[in-house]
Amino acid sequence: MGEGIDRRTAVTALGAGMLALGAGVRAESGLMTGAAGADGKYTLPPLPYDYQALEPYLDEKTMRLHHDKHHQGYVNGLNAALDKLAEARRTGDLGAVKALSRDLAFNGSGHLLHTVFWTNLRPAAGNPGPSDALAVELKRCFGSVEALKAHFSAAAKGVEGSGWGLLVWEPAAGQMLVMQAEKHQNLTAWGVVPLLVLDVWEHAYYLTYQNDRGAYVDAFWKLVDWRNVEARWQAARG
Ligand code: MN
Repeated sequence: MGEGIDRRTAVTALGAGMLALGAGVRAESGLMTGAAGADGKYTLPPLPYDYQALEPYLDEKTMRLHHDKHHQGYVNGLNAALDKLAEARRTGDLGAVKALSRDLAFNGSGHLLHTVFWTNLRPAAGNPGPSDALAVELKRCFGSVEALKAHFSAAAKGVEGSGWGLLVWEPAAGQMLVMQAEKHQNLTAWGVVPLLVLDVWEHAYYLTYQNDRGAYVDAFWKLVDWRNVEARWQAARG
Protein backbone atom coordinates (compact mmCIF):
# COMPACT_ATOMS: atom_id res chain seq x y z
CA MET A 1 0.00 0.00 0.00
CA GLY A 2 2.85 2.34 0.78
CA GLU A 3 4.16 2.10 -2.75
CA GLY A 4 0.72 2.85 -4.09
CA ILE A 5 0.38 5.93 -1.92
CA ASP A 6 3.78 7.23 -2.94
CA ARG A 7 3.01 6.69 -6.59
CA ARG A 8 -0.38 8.35 -6.50
CA THR A 9 0.94 11.30 -4.54
CA ALA A 10 3.29 12.17 -7.34
CA VAL A 11 0.79 11.38 -10.06
CA THR A 12 -1.58 13.82 -8.37
CA ALA A 13 1.11 16.45 -8.71
CA LEU A 14 1.56 15.49 -12.33
CA GLY A 15 -2.14 15.63 -13.03
CA ALA A 16 -2.37 19.09 -11.54
CA GLY A 17 0.11 20.34 -14.09
CA MET A 18 2.71 18.46 -16.05
CA LEU A 19 4.96 21.46 -16.18
CA ALA A 20 4.84 21.92 -12.44
CA LEU A 21 6.85 18.72 -12.13
CA GLY A 22 10.38 19.89 -12.43
CA ALA A 23 13.73 18.30 -11.93
CA GLY A 24 13.24 18.59 -8.18
CA VAL A 25 11.07 15.47 -8.04
CA ARG A 26 13.47 12.56 -7.88
CA ALA A 27 12.49 9.14 -9.07
CA GLU A 28 14.64 7.61 -6.34
CA SER A 29 12.56 9.35 -3.67
CA GLY A 30 9.76 6.94 -4.50
CA LEU A 31 7.41 9.85 -5.18
CA MET A 32 6.92 8.91 -8.78
CA THR A 33 8.29 6.25 -11.04
CA GLY A 34 8.86 7.93 -14.36
CA ALA A 35 9.32 11.40 -12.87
CA ALA A 36 12.22 13.61 -13.76
CA GLY A 37 15.32 12.70 -11.81
CA ALA A 38 18.08 14.94 -10.55
CA ASP A 39 19.29 15.36 -14.14
CA GLY A 40 15.86 16.57 -15.22
CA LYS A 41 15.29 13.53 -17.43
CA TYR A 42 12.06 11.57 -17.31
CA THR A 43 12.33 7.78 -17.21
CA LEU A 44 10.18 4.80 -18.17
CA PRO A 45 8.69 3.23 -15.04
CA PRO A 46 8.74 -0.58 -14.96
CA LEU A 47 5.42 -2.41 -15.17
CA PRO A 48 4.15 -3.28 -11.65
CA TYR A 49 3.51 -6.89 -12.82
CA ASP A 50 4.89 -9.36 -15.38
CA TYR A 51 4.29 -8.77 -19.08
CA GLN A 52 2.02 -11.81 -19.32
CA ALA A 53 0.12 -11.07 -16.08
CA LEU A 54 -2.93 -9.61 -17.84
CA GLU A 55 -3.49 -12.52 -20.19
CA PRO A 56 -5.75 -13.63 -21.75
CA TYR A 57 -7.26 -10.13 -21.90
CA LEU A 58 -4.01 -8.38 -22.85
CA ASP A 59 -1.30 -10.53 -24.40
CA GLU A 60 2.40 -10.49 -23.55
CA LYS A 61 3.52 -9.27 -26.98
CA THR A 62 1.15 -6.31 -26.88
CA MET A 63 2.31 -5.39 -23.38
CA ARG A 64 6.00 -5.60 -24.37
CA LEU A 65 5.51 -3.43 -27.45
CA HIS A 66 3.19 -1.02 -25.68
CA HIS A 67 5.39 -0.50 -22.64
CA ASP A 68 8.90 -0.95 -24.02
CA LYS A 69 8.43 0.77 -27.39
CA HIS A 70 5.43 3.10 -27.33
CA HIS A 71 5.67 4.40 -23.77
CA GLN A 72 9.46 4.66 -24.09
CA GLY A 73 8.86 6.73 -27.21
CA TYR A 74 6.80 9.26 -25.25
CA VAL A 75 9.48 9.46 -22.57
CA ASN A 76 12.12 10.07 -25.24
CA GLY A 77 9.95 12.65 -26.99
CA LEU A 78 9.28 14.48 -23.73
CA ASN A 79 12.98 14.65 -22.87
CA ALA A 80 13.86 15.76 -26.41
CA ALA A 81 11.26 18.55 -26.36
CA LEU A 82 12.58 19.81 -23.03
CA ASP A 83 16.17 19.73 -24.31
CA LYS A 84 15.22 21.69 -27.43
CA LEU A 85 13.25 24.24 -25.41
CA ALA A 86 16.24 24.74 -23.13
CA GLU A 87 18.43 25.25 -26.19
CA ALA A 88 15.93 27.74 -27.60
CA ARG A 89 16.07 29.74 -24.39
CA ARG A 90 19.86 29.59 -24.37
CA THR A 91 20.27 30.79 -27.94
CA GLY A 92 17.31 33.15 -28.01
CA ASP A 93 16.09 31.45 -31.20
CA LEU A 94 12.46 30.99 -30.18
CA GLY A 95 11.00 30.27 -33.59
CA ALA A 96 10.32 26.62 -32.79
CA VAL A 97 8.54 27.25 -29.49
CA LYS A 98 5.09 26.66 -30.98
CA ALA A 99 6.00 23.26 -32.43
CA LEU A 100 8.00 22.26 -29.36
CA SER A 101 5.11 23.23 -27.09
CA ARG A 102 2.94 20.77 -29.03
CA ASP A 103 5.63 18.08 -28.67
CA LEU A 104 5.82 18.79 -24.94
CA ALA A 105 2.04 18.50 -24.48
CA PHE A 106 1.74 15.36 -26.65
CA ASN A 107 4.64 13.42 -25.18
CA GLY A 108 4.23 14.71 -21.64
CA SER A 109 0.55 13.79 -21.59
CA GLY A 110 1.34 10.43 -23.21
CA HIS A 111 3.93 9.70 -20.51
CA LEU A 112 1.60 10.74 -17.70
CA LEU A 113 -1.39 8.74 -18.91
CA HIS A 114 0.59 5.55 -19.54
CA THR A 115 2.17 5.86 -16.10
CA VAL A 116 -1.32 6.00 -14.58
CA PHE A 117 -2.67 3.29 -16.91
CA TRP A 118 -0.17 0.57 -15.93
CA THR A 119 -0.97 1.00 -12.24
CA ASN A 120 -4.72 1.04 -12.90
CA LEU A 121 -4.49 -2.58 -14.08
CA ARG A 122 -3.98 -5.90 -12.29
CA PRO A 123 -4.43 -9.59 -13.07
CA ALA A 124 -8.08 -10.54 -13.52
CA ALA A 125 -7.99 -13.58 -11.22
CA GLY A 126 -9.30 -12.75 -7.77
CA ASN A 127 -10.05 -9.11 -8.61
CA PRO A 128 -12.22 -7.91 -5.71
CA GLY A 129 -13.79 -4.87 -7.44
CA PRO A 130 -14.37 -1.47 -5.80
CA SER A 131 -14.37 -1.15 -2.02
CA ASP A 132 -17.54 -0.03 -0.26
CA ALA A 133 -16.11 3.48 0.18
CA LEU A 134 -15.27 3.87 -3.49
CA ALA A 135 -18.62 2.38 -4.54
CA VAL A 136 -20.42 4.99 -2.41
CA GLU A 137 -18.53 7.79 -4.14
CA LEU A 138 -19.13 6.33 -7.61
CA LYS A 139 -22.84 6.12 -6.77
CA ARG A 140 -22.84 9.75 -5.60
CA CYS A 141 -21.20 10.95 -8.81
CA PHE A 142 -22.75 8.61 -11.40
CA GLY A 143 -25.79 6.93 -9.85
CA SER A 144 -24.23 3.48 -9.54
CA VAL A 145 -21.03 1.56 -10.23
CA GLU A 146 -22.69 -0.03 -13.26
CA ALA A 147 -23.73 3.40 -14.56
CA LEU A 148 -20.13 4.64 -14.22
CA LYS A 149 -18.86 1.59 -16.13
CA ALA A 150 -21.43 2.05 -18.90
CA HIS A 151 -20.67 5.78 -19.19
CA PHE A 152 -16.89 5.20 -19.18
CA SER A 153 -17.17 2.38 -21.73
CA ALA A 154 -19.25 4.55 -24.07
CA ALA A 155 -16.71 7.37 -23.75
CA ALA A 156 -13.77 5.03 -24.45
CA LYS A 157 -15.47 3.28 -27.36
CA GLY A 158 -16.48 6.61 -28.89
CA VAL A 159 -13.12 8.39 -28.92
CA GLU A 160 -12.51 9.72 -32.43
CA GLY A 161 -9.24 8.26 -33.69
CA SER A 162 -6.59 7.57 -31.04
CA GLY A 163 -7.12 8.56 -27.43
CA TRP A 164 -8.29 7.63 -23.97
CA GLY A 165 -11.30 7.17 -21.75
CA LEU A 166 -10.73 8.77 -18.36
CA LEU A 167 -12.29 8.89 -14.91
CA VAL A 168 -10.98 12.06 -13.29
CA TRP A 169 -11.29 14.05 -10.08
CA GLU A 170 -12.42 17.64 -10.64
CA PRO A 171 -11.23 19.57 -7.58
CA ALA A 172 -13.20 22.79 -8.01
CA ALA A 173 -16.58 21.13 -7.51
CA GLY A 174 -15.17 18.11 -5.68
CA GLN A 175 -16.58 15.42 -7.91
CA MET A 176 -15.59 12.77 -10.40
CA LEU A 177 -16.13 13.19 -14.14
CA VAL A 178 -15.83 10.86 -17.12
CA MET A 179 -13.98 12.39 -20.05
CA GLN A 180 -12.43 11.53 -23.38
CA ALA A 181 -8.97 12.51 -24.60
CA GLU A 182 -8.04 12.64 -28.28
CA LYS A 183 -4.41 11.68 -28.86
CA HIS A 184 -3.15 12.25 -25.30
CA GLN A 185 -3.56 15.94 -24.69
CA ASN A 186 -6.68 17.17 -26.48
CA LEU A 187 -9.97 17.84 -24.66
CA THR A 188 -8.24 18.11 -21.27
CA ALA A 189 -9.90 20.09 -18.51
CA TRP A 190 -7.39 22.11 -16.50
CA GLY A 191 -6.74 20.88 -13.01
CA VAL A 192 -8.43 17.50 -13.17
CA VAL A 193 -6.59 14.50 -11.71
CA PRO A 194 -6.72 11.20 -13.64
CA LEU A 195 -8.00 8.33 -11.47
CA LEU A 196 -8.68 5.57 -14.02
CA VAL A 197 -7.62 5.73 -17.66
CA LEU A 198 -8.01 3.41 -20.62
CA ASP A 199 -5.74 3.59 -23.66
CA VAL A 200 -7.80 3.12 -26.82
CA TRP A 201 -4.99 3.67 -29.31
CA GLU A 202 -4.89 0.63 -31.61
CA HIS A 203 -1.40 -0.19 -30.36
CA ALA A 204 -3.01 -1.02 -27.00
CA TYR A 205 -5.25 -3.80 -28.29
CA TYR A 206 -4.81 -4.60 -32.00
CA LEU A 207 -2.86 -7.86 -31.71
CA THR A 208 -5.57 -9.44 -29.56
CA TYR A 209 -8.73 -7.67 -30.68
CA GLN A 210 -7.87 -6.33 -34.16
CA ASN A 211 -10.42 -3.60 -34.92
CA ASP A 212 -12.87 -4.61 -32.17
CA ARG A 213 -12.23 -1.81 -29.70
CA GLY A 214 -15.53 -2.58 -27.99
CA ALA A 215 -14.45 -6.08 -26.95
CA TYR A 216 -11.20 -4.64 -25.56
CA VAL A 217 -13.07 -2.00 -23.55
CA ASP A 218 -15.46 -4.61 -22.19
CA ALA A 219 -12.56 -6.87 -21.14
CA PHE A 220 -10.80 -3.92 -19.46
CA TRP A 221 -13.19 -4.07 -16.51
CA LYS A 222 -11.84 -7.49 -15.52
CA LEU A 223 -8.39 -5.92 -15.11
CA VAL A 224 -9.18 -2.70 -13.24
CA ASP A 225 -7.28 -2.36 -9.96
CA TRP A 226 -9.94 -0.52 -7.96
CA ARG A 227 -7.58 -0.24 -4.97
CA ASN A 228 -5.29 1.88 -7.10
CA VAL A 229 -8.23 3.99 -8.30
CA GLU A 230 -9.32 4.50 -4.69
CA ALA A 231 -5.81 5.47 -3.57
CA ARG A 232 -5.65 8.08 -6.34
CA TRP A 233 -9.10 9.39 -5.40
CA GLN A 234 -8.22 9.66 -1.70
CA ALA A 235 -5.07 11.57 -2.57
CA ALA A 236 -6.79 13.86 -5.06
CA ARG A 237 -9.61 14.88 -2.72
CA GLY A 238 -7.11 15.64 0.06
MN1 MN B 1 -0.57 3.59 -25.52
